[in-house]
Amino acid sequence: MAEAIEIYDDRLRAILRPGASLQELANSAVHSEGPVYFHEDDSVVWSDAHGNRLLHWSPADKMSVLRSPSDYQSGNYRDLEGRLVACSSGLRAIIRREHDGEWKVLVDRYQGKRLNSPNDLVVKSDNTIWFTDPPYGITEPNQGYGGEQEQPGSYVYRFDPASGEIYPVVTDMVRPNGLAFSPDESLLYVSDTAAFNIPGGPHHLRVYEVVDHRHVQNGRVFCVIDPGQPDGLRVDEYGNIFTSSQDSVQVYAPDGTQLGKILIPQTSANLTFGGKERDRLFITAGHSLYAIDLNTRGVQL
Ligand code: MG
Repeated sequence: MAEAIEIYDDRLRAILRPGASLQELANSAVHSEGPVYFHEDDSVVWSDAHGNRLLHWSPADKMSVLRSPSDYQSGNYRDLEGRLVACSSGLRAIIRREHDGEWKVLVDRYQGKRLNSPNDLVVKSDNTIWFTDPPYGITEPNQGYGGEQEQPGSYVYRFDPASGEIYPVVTDMVRPNGLAFSPDESLLYVSDTAAFNIPGGPHHLRVYEVVDHRHVQNGRVFCVIDPGQPDGLRVDEYGNIFTSSQDSVQVYAPDGTQLGKILIPQTSANLTFGGKERDRLFITAGHSLYAIDLNTRGVQL
């Protein structure tokens, strides 16, 4: 497996599982994104974002279609009750699968105007939903139904499903896309994927200090991602950041040092920790779902 992992800093060795290798679990999606883990049946749900389907994989059943069409569902997560919450690029909304299996729109507007097209989300420990809102579901024909952009920019929002309160927390990025909190939720990392279709646009992660669980401040560039751009990211129990890129999952220490790369045969979009011990990294990349066992555990599933 040594040939598939590039080590730039010895701290990466403690994170890797000796003898573990990248496994391809499924490979027939048009474009895989947004994996989320279900410990109940050791399964992964993810989006075939360009195929407009929601997919399911488990060791017993392999790949199956959970929902089609999925209204261009992209990022997926679970709330504190275990319900699947998701970004719908097509509906331009945050949606939730209720306990009875019905899908419900939780929010699709801010100040009376439609959201752009929510792309990725995380649920904080207070059950608030923090999500990014780039315009890809409007501008990219294979990621949504088109339409007019009504918001003046691409922001990161904080939404409280209990009260319905919604407001932007990050307004100084070009195309915010993936996001994750540090283990103690004192920091918020957000990827900017503007370079995807804006020549010279950013392709980096920014990090912000979280204030009073409600706002962020002092944003700065945390790392620049090459080649390609970052998309989804996750954080492990030590605060290390795992981010997608064109050629690999790149691993960064909390101090910003790049520890190394886990090379992936296709361009990776998103990733999530799972497995019974939360030490298995699931990666959506191109047509496929991959997994690799690690010696560290995720703080976000
Ligand atoms: Mg994304």
